[in-house]
Amino acid sequence: MLGGNLPGTGQAMATAVEKFRMAGVQNIRCSRIMMSAAEDCVSGTPDFLDMAMTGSWCGTPGDLLALCQQIECEAGRPAHHSSRESRILDCDIILFGEEVIDSPDLTIPHPRAHLREFVLRPLAEISPQTSFPDGMTVLEKLHRLETGYKPDTVKR
Ligand code: ADP
Ligand code: MG
Repeated sequence: MLGGNLPGTGQAMATAVEKFRMAGVQNIRCSRIMMSAAEDCVSGTPDFLDMAMTGSWCGTPGDLLALCQQIECEAGRPAHHSSRESRILDCDIILFGEEVIDSPDLTIPHPRAHLREFVLRPLAEISPQTSFPDGMTVLEKLHRLETGYKPDTVKR
């Protein structure tokens, strides 16, 4: 998932896709870029642009996370940042095949993906039938959210 909310974010997203391709991600497919109001951020935070990207990656999930962080850094995102502040580019891994990972620096599926329409809607555009490890598809999770699903706990 690629996103951001600063001037230059659209260009940074396009550059990022090219960098993922150059780094070996194959069969890349991208959703449209969708705009949404900032959630969980201080008031006045600019709207976000979000785009889902799918592809095949031969390396490990950890390698892919390192690549995401390198691409964010090259786009000008400061190495030290809070997760709720404005950013030129954010690259998050939502799913990695059927893998379930819960390590200190990597959680897959992304722990907040199923709660976020701005993740599920773009992802459903290109991968509606892809399943989460719990068996629910992206489209089913989006429909559940649209019909008022409210989780008790959210892992941050
Ligand atoms: P956010 O994406 O919530 O705004 P950050 O981009 O600041 O937050 O990421 C904070 C940390 O989240 C990263 O340093 C990374 O180690 C960790 N992280 C855990 N799981 C994932 C994931 N699935 N995709 C991307 N980052 C992740
Ligand atoms: Mg991130």
